[in-house]
Amino acid sequence: MRDIAAKQEYDRQRARRIYEDFVARRLQLIESFGGACQNCSVALVRDEAQFHHVVYDEVESNYPRTCKTMSVRLKRLAEAEQHPERFKLLCVTCHNLEHERDTNAYFN
Ligand SMILES: [Zn+2]
Repeated sequence: MRDIAAKQEYDRQRARRIYEDFVARRLQLIESFGGACQNCSVALVRDEAQFHHVVYDEVESNYPRTCKTMSVRLKRLAEAEQHPERFKLLCVTCHNLEHERDTNAYFN
């Protein structure tokens, strides 16, 4: 029993470290993008900032586009760190507008 509890505790701490590392790197990336929406210039706090994926690389962006698992979020973050030109930092409103435009373009 003690081994199971120790393993659960280890897993919990490992997951927390991964999440904290993700949050810190994402925050750094938001700052390197200027900390404001690139469409409407509103200043963004951490939870309001969204990265819009503009350019998909055939190989490096080959992960599910809307997937929210930590492993995919880390892949997307790493791609944004290495290729910031493929992403735009947006507020929620502008991000929704970008996707409405995508949808319109797709259906028209
Ligand atoms: Zn905006």
